[in-house]
Amino acid sequence: MNTTNEVKSHTHDNAPPFEAEVSRIAFAKARLAFGVHSQLSTQARLAELSKLKQTILANRSTIITRVMQEVGKCRTDALIAEILGTLDWLNWLEKNAERLLRPEQVKTPITLLGKQSLLLHEPLGVVLIICPWNYPFHNAITGIAAAIVTGNAVVYKPSEHAPCKGMVEQVLACSPVLQALVQVVYGTGSMGSALIEQQPAKIFFTGSGPTGSKIMAQASQALIPVELELGGKDPMIVFTDAPMARSVAGALWGGFTNAGQSCSGVERLLVEQSGYERFVDALVKGAEKLVVRSGDSGDADVGRMTVGFQRDKVIEHVQDALERGARLRFGAVPNVNSLTVQPIILDRVTPDMRVWSEETFGPVLPVMAFSTEAHAIELANDTDYGLCASVFTADAARALRVAGALEVGGVSINNVNMSEGNPGLPFGGAKKSGFGKLRGPEGLLGFTRSKAVLIDKAGSRIEANWYPYTPRKFKLFERFIQALYAPRRFRLLAIAWHGLRLEAFSQKPRK
Ligand code: NAD
Repeated sequence: MNTTNEVKSHTHDNAPPFEAEVSRIAFAKARLAFGVHSQLSTQARLAELSKLKQTILANRSTIITRVMQEVGKCRTDALIAEILGTLDWLNWLEKNAERLLRPEQVKTPITLLGKQSLLLHEPLGVVLIICPWNYPFHNAITGIAAAIVTGNAVVYKPSEHAPCKGMVEQVLACSPVLQALVQVVYGTGSMGSALIEQQPAKIFFTGSGPTGSKIMAQASQALIPVELELGGKDPMIVFTDAPMARSVAGALWGGFTNAGQSCSGVERLLVEQSGYERFVDALVKGAEKLVVRSGDSGDADVGRMTVGFQRDKVIEHVQDALERGARLRFGAVPNVNSLTVQPIILDRVTPDMRVWSEETFGPVLPVMAFSTEAHAIELANDTDYGLCASVFTADAARALRVAGALEVGGVSINNVNMSEGNPGLPFGGAKKSGFGKLRGPEGLLGFTRSKAVLIDKAGSRIEANWYPYTPRKFKLFERFIQALYAPRRFRLLAIAWHGLRLEAFSQKPRK
């Protein structure tokens, strides 16, 4: 196990010099490993990640149990999100990374006749990955794997609220290469800040908007690139023509999976007016059947919430909504002494309520009616957030129309929380839900620096655009440009004619 793993959590108040020292050591080790393993091919890196995939698969029960104990999610949530989601990403990398990362021949335009263009995807160096507490295994491994396969080394800091100490290191122990390339550092936000001081090549941050903003401010001092995967207030829009049973089941799962502590969970349910009452009645009936318990053996639907401050936010949002006239259709104001929170359904919700305008990040489904398609889009977009959304309708054209009009990073049609289910699709928000992507080709290349290479022959000729500049050359260049963008009919001929004259003239020395 890496020595940096032994570091204990520290608060903002104590031992910043200690945090600085731990950070310095972690980066020194990661930089060393980056140098040692810099020649590893993508294929060789994939071979190490393949060991990791097998280790995760073989040790899934231990991982699930650990995550359940620490963050309280129910067993099936842990299996699907932490294990399946992670394996699926590793699998996608195995199938696609080599193709996406190999040098690309890029078409060279006629203006650069005789030359070749190449695009290289190179590693950045040591990437800092900072994670939140809601998916402590999945978030960690997804970012780490993307960074490693692209040739980087990693310093990874989990959340102090779900450190799952030693868990990531245990799976990485399947490969000494991965062990060396990934340094895990534990601590609070001030440790995160100390790590940024070490000037990582990039910061990949997943967490809340306010922290993202602080990280960006600190990173800006040293011009460190940042990628921010932030919170959401995802809308689910249900039209009356959508099959009711499926949309009700989708809303329940979308709102309550991971006890509502999912960045792209359904936080605003918009239901078409004509079917509204029937839909909410069915939703309540469905919620009555949900089994809420932590420490289950696969027989519970919803686990406990992870941290008290998040449960308190749920209480605040629900109380605020009730004071402003919302109706509690299911559940109750959570008990301050328990992290087990019954799912809550609220209707008669208005946009000024906190439960509608702020990220709640708990098992609460506020429901609102809409009159027309335009009204649904307007309500859905009326937020600073823009992570994901879902649209349920039997009308395929309408579904695509609405998906196109939503200001979000991903849309699931007749499904919920599922655009992120495909590792080949990029995941990441619009507006204040962040920028940059994780997964998909775009997400993978986010961990690389593209390098443009132009290859010319080692001849004795000089280029037309090199010195000397003369009035004659200027004229020839003008004619050449005119030819380049001339009407199609004579273009090729004109380009050849003026290009050759320019070329011939350029070889003459200045008189
Ligand atoms: P948070 O912002 O409080 O903390 C996230 C991480 O940042 C933690 O590891 C924390 O220690 C660290 N941190 C805090 N201050 C820091 C600083 N100044 N410098 C460096 N690091 C610092 O978020 P959280 O409460 O752990 O997570 C919940 C939030 O994460 C929600 O808003 C949720 O929507 C969001 N989230 C987003 C995604 C996504 O992919 N978009 C995924 C999961 C969670």
